[in-house]
Amino acid sequence: MIDSAVLQHNLDQIHQRIAHACAAAGRDRREVTLVAVSKGQPAAAIRALYQLGHRDFGESYVQEWQAKATELSDLSELRWHFLGHLQRNKVKQVIGKVALLHSLDDMQGLDEMARTAWQARLSQPVLLQVNLAHEQSKRGCGPQDAPLFLDVLQRSPGLLLRGLMVLPPYDWDAEQVRPWFRQLRQLSEQLQVDYAGVGQLPPAGQWWLSMGMSGDFEVAIAEGSTHIRVGTSLFGPRAT
Ligand SMILES: *Cc1c(COP(=O)(O)O)cnc(C)c1O
Repeated sequence: MIDSAVLQHNLDQIHQRIAHACAAAGRDRREVTLVAVSKGQPAAAIRALYQLGHRDFGESYVQEWQAKATELSDLSELRWHFLGHLQRNKVKQVIGKVALLHSLDDMQGLDEMARTAWQARLSQPVLLQVNLAHEQSKRGCGPQDAPLFLDVLQRSPGLLLRGLMVLPPYDWDAEQVRPWFRQLRQLSEQLQVDYAGVGQLPPAGQWWLSMGMSGDFEVAIAEGSTHIRVGTSLFGPRAT
């Protein structure tokens, strides 16, 4: 059973926290998009949140996402965000079908996505996922490789680079995560400088940073996040 009153309560609370964090940081509330991470949640929960006016939803697994997208295909204003690692053989199933792919995380994937988008004459907005802490267990390019990825992306007409994403090492204390958020922002600023005039990076207002989750999104907003990805604070625990 999906309890809409509980969802409404959680959504209100998160919107209040976002507004508060934006005000504290002197930022315009409209700069921050709340992506409701619905992996592990039933399609009915997505529908209920949509009916409360929410539009941006994030999924991490292709099969799970496809099943929900089919079931929810009548929700014409729903925007899907893809957050998980995209295996090469599944690229075709996702490219051109999501509003934003947050997880461009390796060169083979980039090649496959670029070819797919070009062949089908699609434009897919993407974020480059950066593995700032060089964690073995996580995906993403090393920060030192970001310029190489940007060079390839500049020559990939079907992929529109819109910014960077990070999934930093987990810590229950959000302040411990702050340096990673700050590093992503600094990397982003450096890339903006390096590519000023050279390529076609979008202007500052259309250049995004996807960072911050349930436990640390206020800190991420203080450090410049434009897309926070919130699952459990919104929907409650995930079925696994
Ligand atoms: C699951 C997931 C989230 C949401 O995490 P919560 O702690 O439930 O808010 C955010 N980002 C990514 C990439 C995820 O896989």
